Amino acid sequence: MKISIPREAITEIMASYNCSEEEAAKAYLDARDNADDAFKSFLEQRFDSQKQTVGHLDPKIYTPKEIKRHLDKYVIGQEEYKKRLAIAAAYHFAMIKYLRENPDYQTVKRFRKKNTITAGPSGSGKTYCVEVLGDLLQVPTLIIDATDYTEAGYVGKSADDMIRELIDLVPGHNREEQARFISRYGGLICIDEIDKKAKNGASTGHDISREGFQRSVLKLIERKLVPINNPYSAASQIQEAMDRQRGEKTNKQDNMISTENILFILGGSFERTYDNLESIVKKRVQHKGRVREDGSIEIIGFSVDEKKNEKGKLQNFYREAEADDFINFGLLPELIGRSPIRTFVNLLSKNDLIRIMQETEDSILNQYKMEFKLFNINLDFTSDAVEYVAEISENQKTGARALVSVWENILTDFQFELPGLNFSKLEVTRELCERSKDYLLKMLERSPFADFVENFKKEYGIELILDEEVQNCFEQYAQQNDIQISETLKKFLSGASALNYMGVKGPYKITKEIVKDEKYFDKLFSRWYEEQKKKTT
Ligand code: ADP
Repeated sequence: MKISIPREAITEIMASYNCSEEEAAKAYLDARDNADDAFKSFLEQRFDSQKQTVGHLDPKIYTPKEIKRHLDKYVIGQEEYKKRLAIAAAYHFAMIKYLRENPDYQTVKRFRKKNTITAGPSGSGKTYCVEVLGDLLQVPTLIIDATDYTEAGYVGKSADDMIRELIDLVPGHNREEQARFISRYGGLICIDEIDKKAKNGASTGHDISREGFQRSVLKLIERKLVPINNPYSAASQIQEAMDRQRGEKTNKQDNMISTENILFILGGSFERTYDNLESIVKKRVQHKGRVREDGSIEIIGFSVDEKKNEKGKLQNFYREAEADDFINFGLLPELIGRSPIRTFVNLLSKNDLIRIMQETEDSILNQYKMEFKLFNINLDFTSDAVEYVAEISENQKTGARALVSVWENILTDFQFELPGLNFSKLEVTRELCERSKDYLLKMLERSPFADFVENFKKEYGIELILDEEVQNCFEQYAQQNDIQISETLKKFLSGASALNYMGVKGPYKITKEIVKDEKYFDKLFSRWYEEQKKKTT
């Protein structure tokens, strides 16, 4: 920006303060900056109550490709889902903007929303993708679990409460204004675990209430006027009573929000012990498809080898789910009808998990690196360590969610012990991951035996005595079974906590017999308990 300084102002400053031209110019600029700040803060103070807290930002409109590119930075794989979501969001928010700017537009009176329904295994990115999408679009985004809500009239949160929770997410303190922001610019609601609200055929109370919830959602996802304050809350009722007393009529429309600009994304794993989505699709597909001699099924577009390919089977059947399959699963036909975009996510493989750790912008490895760096420790991960964690996580069958808990189990003690000591580097190797506790104790030059004894004493006040012979027994056991010494100690001695309840106070010697019997302390406690019972009777 070009700044001009009036010559006469400079001459006046030079004359009044006896300073050089340069000093006068600098003082002029500083004074102007200060004056600008004072001006702003004066206006803010004066108009504080009328200040627009929300609604001043016009969210940017993105093309489907721009959205997809952003999702790609955070979400690995799930290409079809990302694409569908990108299309739904791009057109939804562009349409809202268009109708906002062209209120007289007549051709399409009510646009058909691109509500989306997604099926696929847990922990594979369904809700995460919506989170990332919300961040990009800068629109209020609510992610909820259908199981936390009930049909209106039942105890618990009702479907309408979702809308009020979405309003809560808009910055500001004025509810009408917050609600107006959503009406103007739209919002996103992701209802996860919608499959848990499916009927399962029985006409029990549970089933009826699940269907009731679906009906409530059905109304919301198309368009419904919802009170912006919970009409049953004490605050609303007091307000209404006061208004009535004052003879003021509450303008009902003012206190309502229409859900028409909210895009809904429904998701679920659609798994259950019988008749899950996969088996429903499979039945239909087998019925229509041609079963080859080798047992595989040929369907137009892809083929499934029933016998060999467990995972392929899962992916492909989700991919093939059609409206009728969702309905047969137990969702209402009208709900499916109003969710015109149907898509799926894949089960994450070990390779996907490795990519999630290494390639995403907010990857868990970068997060740990950053956390350790806060205490001046440079963290590095070897590729076999990453591979090991991916393997363990894959076996847990909770998708990428497992990564967090697996890493936490490995690194949590390091995060406790290392800060403040003289370590400036930690290389996370496969060996460290496999034997994290022993590895850490070695780094700290502490014996696993002394460590166990010390912790036990702190927890229960009892000193355990482990002589050299017993220590050797533990070491041998650990070696033979290829487990850590600390794990072996836990295995045989965690039952020793019973000593605390048995009133033992003094030092307690661990004998070789104990290292032979995992249930030693359980038995000891049972015997003691029986004796106590006998004594009291
Ligand atoms: P769900 O499919 O059950 O909704 P989430 O989307 O909540 O699972 O995934 C759980 C967590 O796992 C996310 O917060 C994210 O960190 C990670 N995650 C899952 N899938 C992916 C993926 N495809 N790419 C990157 N991270 C993922």
